[in-house]
Amino acid sequence: RPLFEALSGKLSGVFDGLAKRGALSEADVAEAMREVRLAMLDADVALSVVKDFVNKVRERAVGHEVLDSISPGQAVAKIVNDALIDALGGAGAVPLNLNAVPPVPILMVGLQGSGKTTTSGKIALRLATRERKKVLLASLDTQRPAAQLQLQQLAERAGVPSLPIVPGQTPVEIARRAMDTGRREGFDVVILDTAGRLSIDEALMNEVREIRAETSPAETLLVVDAMTGQDAVNTARAFNEAVGVTGVVMTRMDGDARGGAALSMRAVTGAPIKLTGSGEKLDALEEFHPERVAGRILG
Ligand code: GDP
Repeated sequence: RPLFEALSGKLSGVFDGLAKRGALSEADVAEAMREVRLAMLDADVALSVVKDFVNKVRERAVGHEVLDSISPGQAVAKIVNDALIDALGGAGAVPLNLNAVPPVPILMVGLQGSGKTTTSGKIALRLATRERKKVLLASLDTQRPAAQLQLQQLAERAGVPSLPIVPGQTPVEIARRAMDTGRREGFDVVILDTAGRLSIDEALMNEVREIRAETSPAETLLVVDAMTGQDAVNTARAFNEAVGVTGVVMTRMDGDARGGAALSMRAVTGAPIKLTGSGEKLDALEEFHPERVAGRILG
């Protein structure tokens, strides 16, 4: 458990010179919480989230009996570790919800450049190969001229069918056609890749709301770039308020971002991070492992 060791190391210094056994006092814990707070802010966790988290951990830790076999630093590190994993959504990964009458619509939303189209292809490949689902990919992006072509090429690479491109249709019309095709041709899942914009605007949100109303998606997955830190958190808040998010995909986890945004994501949307992207290749998609991200945040 690398997190445990890193944090224990950090916190053991804090406890040097303190009584080594017995219940943790308020003063002991306050010292340790300063370290935790710094580590989390350094990892880009939002200040409000850090405060809530630290308060929760402080309550759990004060009065905690330190057993003979471990040091106070290790005891607090374990409490912090467990609380962080809880806050990230618990130990287990949350699977995609495909519980609906097929074709099950999955709506992909997010800002341009977040990795939304790539992630659509990754999810399609994953469902097709691991779960033997018949998946249809459809780009509803009429904003960028090349977007629909990009998804088509991605679909070819993934070996998954994509909705034929019909120029001149609106996003809602494309969504309707995708669902009709899905029903007619017996698809299990239809992945709807919506247009991304450089910034959140009313037009984008209205468009997503219309597509939502048309298709009633089983999942509305928000794709965010882990490297953008606090911006990703603001994006998540805005999308969740405007259209409701059922799950988050964090891309670019292969970068050197410490991933603090992951913790804020959960706090801001109430939705679990379901998947993470870890590269440009179509198989670089993983289930979200709270314990790994916890390690990076406190690292
Ligand atoms: P969109 O505008 O949100 O649809 O973004 P794209 O899917 O076109 O992705 C933008 C760029 O990010 C592309 O070059 C992708 O290959 C790259 N990308 C997407 N996901 C990841 C990831 O998890 N890791 C890395 N390193 N690159 C990614």
